Amino acid sequence: MKEAKWYKKLTDNRVRCDLCNHRCVISDGKRGLCGVRENKSGILYSLVYGKVVASHIDPIEKKPLFHYLPGSYSFSISTVGCNFRCSHCQNSDISQMPVDQNRIIGQDVSPEQIVNLAEKNDCESISYTYTEPTVFMEYAVDIAKLAKEKGIKNVFVTNGYMTEEVLKDVYPYMDAANVDLKGFTEEHYRNICGARLKPVLNSIILMKQLGVWVEITTLIIPTVNDSEEK
Ligand code: SF4
Repeated sequence: MKEAKWYKKLTDNRVRCDLCNHRCVISDGKRGLCGVRENKSGILYSLVYGKVVASHIDPIEKKPLFHYLPGSYSFSISTVGCNFRCSHCQNSDISQMPVDQNRIIGQDVSPEQIVNLAEKNDCESISYTYTEPTVFMEYAVDIAKLAKEKGIKNVFVTNGYMTEEVLKDVYPYMDAANVDLKGFTEEHYRNICGARLKPVLNSIILMKQLGVWVEITTLIIPTVNDSEEK
C-alpha cells in the first residue's frame, strides 16, 4: 500500500482521485470504481503498489506492438484491477477481481527486482499490461524510472483513460503505448466498457504530441463494432 500521487483532498475527509477520467470522489473508508484505491482517513492509497499478479517474458509483438523494437522480448507485468468494465475482457479474472470478488492478490516485488529480472532475461523493454496500467501507475512509474536509467524501454498497454495531467507527468517514462481503442461511439464505451470515448481520443492525440510511440488496437466484436458506419 502506498499513498496515491494524483488526488485532491476535499471536505469531510473525502478525496477526488485524479488518476483517470472517472475522477472518483471517494468518501472515507471507501474505494474508487477500480477497487484498488482506497480513502483512509482522508488519504488516498494505492492498494496494488508492488503487488504483481502476472509476469511473463513476451515477444513485443504479443503486446501487440509491431513497429517498436521488433523481434525483441518485453518483461511484462501487471497487478489486479481495471478502471473499465468491458463485458468481453479476456483477463477479467484478474482485472475485475477487486470489484467482483473484493480481493487484491499479488506477490510483493520491488521496482528494483522488476528491472533486475528484465535485465537478467535480456528484455529490451518492460511492459505494463494484462490489466490496466493506469490503476497501478505509481508502481509502473517507479519501475520505469529505474528502467530508463539502465537503458530499458517502457511500454504501456492501456485503455488510454488516464487524465491529461497524469500523462503529462509520466510521458518521460513512457516510450511506447498500445492504446486499445475499443469502439468508435460514446454509446459503445458507455454500454460495453462503462467509460467515455472522448478522453481516450484526447489521450491518443496527447501521447503523439508528447512524442510517445503509439500503436492502436481495436478488438472487433462481430455485430457490435464492425459495421460500415462504425
Ligand atoms: S483510478 Fe480508480 S479511483 Fe482513480 S478515478 Fe480511476 S476508477 Fe476512480
